Amino acid sequence: MIIGGGFGGLETARKLRKSNVQVTLVDRHNYHLFQPLLYQVATGGLSPANIATPLRSIFRRQANCEVLLAEVQGFDLDHKRLVLADGELKYDHLVVAAGATHSYFGHEEWASVAPGLKTLQDATSIRRKVFLAFEAAEREKNPKIREQMMTFVVVGGGPTGVELAGALSEIARHTIRNDFRHIHPEDALSLIHI
Ligand SMILES: Cc1cc2nc3c(=O)[nH]c(=O)nc-3n(C[C@H](O)[C@H](O)[C@H](O)COP(=O)(O)OP(=O)(O)OC[C@H]3O[C@@H](n4cnc5c(N)ncnc54)[C@H](O)[C@@H]3O)c2cc1C
Repeated sequence: MIIGGGFGGLETARKLRKSNVQVTLVDRHNYHLFQPLLYQVATGGLSPANIATPLRSIFRRQANCEVLLAEVQGFDLDHKRLVLADGELKYDHLVVAAGATHSYFGHEEWASVAPGLKTLQDATSIRRKVFLAFEAAEREKNPKIREQMMTFVVVGGGPTGVELAGALSEIARHTIRNDFRHIHPEDALSLIHI
């Protein structure tokens, strides 16, 4: 029983391809998400379908692997059972590859204004915020407020933050540069807070 169809879960299931075992891969989504390109979805360079591959098609030809869509909510280790949102599943051996989530490092108040970037929902939420900011700026008469609307702050200067800031700059300077009449998208500022 493998929980999670990310890189960890996929690799584990694939490595068991020739073993005499029955593999069950459980994920709350029916797709494998290629997280390294999430920042491209968040800035409109790619659509969600470009980075999400159905788990069923990945394992179509691996006869000893079945894919189940389910949300795991807990474990009954004594009885070797997974507690699901809508039932339970028995297992012999368990691999937990459920990934990680982002942290606000004690600043939970940031959550309402700044989503993390781990899921497709996060990416499309950021994309909506970014493009709506340019749309609102186009209609804003006050230059000070307009400047604020076109200032994007990325908290975190690791690979994800740097890639995201770079992609924001790219869309402002190239992709949408000539698409507005009242603002100059290339004046948008991407600030990284580290
Ligand atoms: C924006 C971004 C950019 C990155 N760029 C790079 C890069 O350039 N190079 C690199 O090497 N790494 C990169 N990483 C890191 C890499 O993507 C992760 O290390 C990797 O995805 C982790 O794989 P995983 O299998 O542990 O978890 P995940 O890929 O997160 O997979 C976990 C799976 O478990 C499922 N799941 C979770 N909880 C439950 C539950 N309760 N019930 C059922 N299913 C559940 C999820 O739906 C998911 O499919 C990046 C990560 C991010 C977020």
